[in-house]
Amino acid sequence: MTTPYAERPALSHRTGAVGEGGEPSAYRAVDPTELVTRAVGLARETQRWWASIGFAGRRHLLDRWRQELTDGMEDLAAVVREETGKPHGDAMLEIGLAVEHLAWAARKAPKVLGRRRVGSTLLAAHLAATVEYLPQGVIGVIGPWNYPVFTPMGSIGYALAGGNTVVFKPSELTPRTGQWLADSFERAVGSPCLQVVQGEAQVGEALCRSGVDKLGFTGSSATAKKVMATCAETLTPVLIEGGGKDALIVDEDADVEAAAQAAVWGGLSNAGQTCIGVERVLAHTAVYDEVVAAIVRQASAVRAGLDDSADLGPITLPKQVRIIHDQVAEAVADGARAVVGAPASTDGVGPDSALTDPARLLQPVVLVDIPEGARIQTEETFGPVITVERVADMDAAVAAANAVDYGLGGAVFSRRNGPEIARRVRSGMTSVNNVIGFAGLPELPFGGVGGSGFGRIHGADGLREFCYAKSVARQRFTPPVSMTNFQRRARVDGIFASAVTLLHGTRPWQR
Ligand code: NAD
Repeated sequence: MTTPYAERPALSHRTGAVGEGGEPSAYRAVDPTELVTRAVGLARETQRWWASIGFAGRRHLLDRWRQELTDGMEDLAAVVREETGKPHGDAMLEIGLAVEHLAWAARKAPKVLGRRRVGSTLLAAHLAATVEYLPQGVIGVIGPWNYPVFTPMGSIGYALAGGNTVVFKPSELTPRTGQWLADSFERAVGSPCLQVVQGEAQVGEALCRSGVDKLGFTGSSATAKKVMATCAETLTPVLIEGGGKDALIVDEDADVEAAAQAAVWGGLSNAGQTCIGVERVLAHTAVYDEVVAAIVRQASAVRAGLDDSADLGPITLPKQVRIIHDQVAEAVADGARAVVGAPASTDGVGPDSALTDPARLLQPVVLVDIPEGARIQTEETFGPVITVERVADMDAAVAAANAVDYGLGGAVFSRRNGPEIARRVRSGMTSVNNVIGFAGLPELPFGGVGGSGFGRIHGADGLREFCYAKSVARQRFTPPVSMTNFQRRARVDGIFASAVTLLHGTRPWQR
């Protein structure tokens, strides 16, 4: 299948490549605006070709990229592990899920975005109409470090499947992972539809100002506000995937062991550095003691370390160690009890401390008796800490879950009423009798409400997020009563008014 792609734009250069070892200093010397302008210009040139090959052409090439990613999974996982410190298995899991999403986006794009006829109405019977979703153009993607493959790929894969090209700024903590993604795309497709620009906040700001047609941001809600402010200067639309403070609710009829297992894995995996991680457990008073005992037993067996058999890696961002410590220490000072672990020491964790610094290995903490209004109840902790609170019933559980500004994900464990309770939680996604399940189902939109952001990646919504609706209404015949001209007389106005009244007004027998 070479012919349709013979005219693909050649690779002219690679932007912002990372130097040996991936040190940030290797790209600091490049002017951020120049770097980004070059990348966006090239992405714009390439986009015309990428859009022109249509859904089938893109699917063929995205499938090639998917195979390249899958064949290189072990290698990419090693890079992710080196940059974030997460266990190899966790890195493999996020890559595997990203590949699943890419496959779905490429396969479903024609059905979701392709042109389709839409119905007419009696008053507009002379019109035949279609709607389709066209690519916005060039999409800027700014990513975080905690899931440096899965998270940005939710924007990148879906934007590409819709006919856009992408300029991607990975986190400054995971530059080589970002570069690996772009290089694998080059190998599979041979065209610069996905480019990477490396750097810190200034490069992100330059991307916001660069004239991209949309900016997909994933990161903290505090940075999201800055990103929106910068994008507002050029009226660049944004997608915001922000932070979270997700709750796992346990009802009195729940399978307690399963709920505890979900809380422990959902709260502690990736050392708790998961936007949709479980930060709070809200347990019905009838099963509260049982839930605490099961969580304590299971969490006590989880260990952070640098060796291959450790369950958790280090805290990737040095300054996060202090944030986690302060939230735990404050809660304990105000009366909370640590039933597993203790507030960790932050001694020696400076901004330049190495990922292998033992002080960045935080062992799991489980807190109970949380004082009302503690910061640990409302602010994102982003560490291996689970709080367990007692609630009188499911109304109280829902109220407590909703009493935070964030609204990203969450979980409910209940044998009888799971879906019903889930619907009452004000968040974009809720799992029932499992944890984080929604992230692995490509059909499901992913995103939050409130302080967690807006817009969606994944699913049909995720494909449409990077496209715009194009509506076309074609006249099939001259209507007997035409309203859209200056020649119409009072008689035509009268017929129109009667027709509207007949169709939509109160019926005589209803008066
Ligand atoms: P962060 O906000 O510090 O940084 C995110 C990205 O923004 C980085 O690439 C960074 O360089 C860039 N950036 C920083 N300042 C900028 C500016 N002024 N203008 C433009 N870009 C700028 O977040 P992080 O520490 O990398 O990631 C952790 C956060 O991300 C957590 O809050 C987590 O909950 C959130 N997160 C959310 C999701 C989601 O899907 N909702 C997924 C993963 C992570």
